[in-house]
Amino acid sequence: MTHRVLVSDPLAEAGLNLLREAGLQVDVRTGLSPDELIALIPPYDALIIRSGTQVTADVIRAGKNLKVIARAGVGVDNIDIPAATEAGIIVANAPTGNVAAAAEHTIALMFALARHVAEAHRSMREGAWNRKAFMGVEISNKTLGLIGLGRVAGHVCRRAVGLGMHVVAYDPYVSQEYAQNIGAELVSLDELLARSDFISLHLPLNESTRGLINEGTLAKMKPGARLINTSRGGIIHDEALLTALDSGQIAGAALDVFAQEPLPADSPLRTHPRVVLTPHIGGSTTEAQFQVALDAAQQVIDVLHDRPARYAINAPLIPATDIEFISPFIDLVERMGRFLHQFQPMQVERVELTVHGPLAEHDTKILQAAALRGLLSGVMEERVNVVNADLIAQRRGIIVSEYRQRHHYERYENMITLAVRSGEESASVRGSVLHGEPFLVAVADRWVEFPPEGHYLVSWHKDQPGVIGALGMLLGKNDINIAFMHVGRLNPRGVAIIVLKTDEPIPDALLPDINAILGEHFQARIITL
Ligand code: NAD
Repeated sequence: MTHRVLVSDPLAEAGLNLLREAGLQVDVRTGLSPDELIALIPPYDALIIRSGTQVTADVIRAGKNLKVIARAGVGVDNIDIPAATEAGIIVANAPTGNVAAAAEHTIALMFALARHVAEAHRSMREGAWNRKAFMGVEISNKTLGLIGLGRVAGHVCRRAVGLGMHVVAYDPYVSQEYAQNIGAELVSLDELLARSDFISLHLPLNESTRGLINEGTLAKMKPGARLINTSRGGIIHDEALLTALDSGQIAGAALDVFAQEPLPADSPLRTHPRVVLTPHIGGSTTEAQFQVALDAAQQVIDVLHDRPARYAINAPLIPATDIEFISPFIDLVERMGRFLHQFQPMQVERVELTVHGPLAEHDTKILQAAALRGLLSGVMEERVNVVNADLIAQRRGIIVSEYRQRHHYERYENMITLAVRSGEESASVRGSVLHGEPFLVAVADRWVEFPPEGHYLVSWHKDQPGVIGALGMLLGKNDINIAFMHVGRLNPRGVAIIVLKTDEPIPDALLPDINAILGEHFQARIITL
């Protein structure tokens, strides 16, 4: 079935082409009202947006088929991420594509503020020639304060250092070493406010950053400081800023982003002589739009093909260099979960994942999520995937533990053991990837190697002559073709396991006859992988 992608904000043609080349059906419908979006979304598997579309909990509820929401850009405050996570929808952004663009715009705004570029231009348009009104300041040898020292700020910092500025930064989540490496001095917020001639904001908007620039913080700024915001509106308290501009405490402000976008036509910010405004164009360069469109489209393609999204926000992140190596193990461990769930159904209380070999050196959090998905997806109506597996495990009181051993186990270079427990009861299965293909290699410590796909009959039985022959006869009589059969045992004539693959599914109705062959203590399971 062809997957459908709704693109509800303008997206560079390169991204649309990539989606179409991947065989997806793409509909571009921009400028939708919230109600129109809700009405339109149900059949779509993926939604691609920029900053225009509001993806509310109502949109997510209506998007019954949604598997991924991709934001062509950085900010995701227009997406209800908890609602998406709860619904098992991957939210991914394109955080690196427009970083250089946003940083260059920040620098452009800093110069515009320092040299009154916009006002001078306007006066020229109006026929004036007023050289005295536009006395500027230089930026070299001045101090730039960066609040938030993430990707955009990092680029701003390097450029500012190149322009001869001294850079101080406040970011409680980065290390002194990182700051030093890019040329910034990490200081407290108060020190930054007191020392900076220019202050530039590079934070996400969240409950701790909303209104961070307010009456109190503006008062702590060096008198005559200039403020730049290319991050998110809402971080600045607009009325407090206007007051500080009027009093001269702040010499100027340059704003690309606003609490309400579009900025209302009657906003006093629009007419203030010391405010420079641009309509959220920080990321608007041809180069950036091209790149974020490609990044968003590629992640939609990846998720719809069951591959991890590179910049997933609500799913375990896998470094790009690891994706190829880890992907087959994700598939393997999910199938191991599905196997255990069918082989020994139980009210799972504990899940233990043991990883042996070089795989243990990678971040294997995603494997836990895949195991839970395999174990739980047969029991729950709700969609379980890497996005909400953790949440669902917590809600169901399942304790997940992981053990890593860097050495190999038996003859398998990498091996995963998945064990589940419920009170005294337990079950386990081992798996490995051999020549790029997933294999189950042991069930309850009996070595039996088989690919985890297709129809299986799996059972314990007493290892004695006649059982296998009788099973073969019974299936043959019912026109069920055996593809292969493995027997795994610890000792001759002990309890052994049979793994029998058939071309046709075995009907449930045959189980009583099968169980009669196996003996009274044993029950076969029909398993589909
Ligand atoms: P990022 O996640 O790389 O960096 C954000 C930084 O803020 C992180 O280092 C984080 O530690 C820090 N931070 C978080 N809370 C903080 C707090 N309370 N105090 C101090 N620091 C805090 O993000 P980025 O890619 O650099 O983007 C920065 C901002 O710029 C975002 O809001 C993004 O939406 C915005 N942006 C705007 C445009 C535009 O078109 N104007 C373009 C790109 C990015």
